[in-house]
Amino acid sequence: MAWHELNKNWHDTTVDYCDVCGNLLIARYWSFIEPDGGETRRCCDETCERLFGRLRRLEESAAES
Ligand SMILES: [Zn+2]
Repeated sequence: MAWHELNKNWHDTTVDYCDVCGNLLIARYWSFIEPDGGETRRCCDETCERLFGRLRRLEESAAES
């Protein structure tokens, strides 16, 4: 959906991770809204958003069988 800057104070030592692949987010992150859940997710970039959709469909097909 959109890029966001990871604005942090110099003394802020918290780290942020991609909601999809778990990589460390540095300087900026890509945010998107879950198609069904409506939750906002933060990830590395657009490829992780697509990966999220693929994983979601895999989970759904696994749940059906
Ligand atoms: Zn990622």
